[in-house]
Amino acid sequence: MDNELFLESEREYMVETQLLPRRIRDGLVLQVMRTVPRHLFVPPEYRHLAYTDGPLPIGFGQTISQPYIVALMSQLLELKGQERLLEVGTGSGYQAAVLGYLAGEVHTIERFPELARQAEQTLAELGLENVSVHIGDGTAGLLEFAPYQGIIVTAAAPHVPQALLDQLADGGRLVIPVGERGSQFLERWRRRGDDFDVEEVIPVAFVPLVGQFGWRD
Ligand code: SAH
Repeated sequence: MDNELFLESEREYMVETQLLPRRIRDGLVLQVMRTVPRHLFVPPEYRHLAYTDGPLPIGFGQTISQPYIVALMSQLLELKGQERLLEVGTGSGYQAAVLGYLAGEVHTIERFPELARQAEQTLAELGLENVSVHIGDGTAGLLEFAPYQGIIVTAAAPHVPQALLDQLADGGRLVIPVGERGSQFLERWRRRGDDFDVEEVIPVAFVPLVGQFGWRD
């Protein structure tokens, strides 16, 4: 079997063993998880583990999220294809790539310039021209392109930053892990005019969101 076919079957196995049994049902999300080459977002020394059921180190004490969590957060955004999205916490760029195939336009912001540059390069190799990588503190959102129909935060916040709620479009969804440094609940917020609904989804453990309206360094 050639390498491409092997990787494709690894992704299919990932979908069947990690996503389908855990109620990832959105057909488009499943299709994108079957296609995005996660191994390209993982450092060479971990590449053989790219399709396994967990997070992996990407340098600077940060991690690329578990495939299931990427799929779940994508599904929670309820995307139809035309949305403008903000991701806080680019990391490897993998989640941004998945969103790039599911939405119209993705802005992703990362506080470590080296990670941002590496992610930008990987996204360019995939030809994902609708994903823009920004460097900065995403706890203040990214006012320049607001409002967003969806916002996803891939680092753990002590509380929901007000700027992210302000930058959410009417009807928009915000998916964010909120809680202590070691353990959080994934929350989905939905804006209705000036009101917000919030649901707790599952317990999770993300690296901390560090910034002005997050955790202190
Ligand atoms: N979505 C990433 C997962 C990244 S881990 C992926 O698919 O690989 C979380 C990332 O959030 C880390 O890279 C960390 O540096 C970044 N981060 C933490 N606080 C941040 C902040 N205030 N603004 C922007 N990025 C932040």
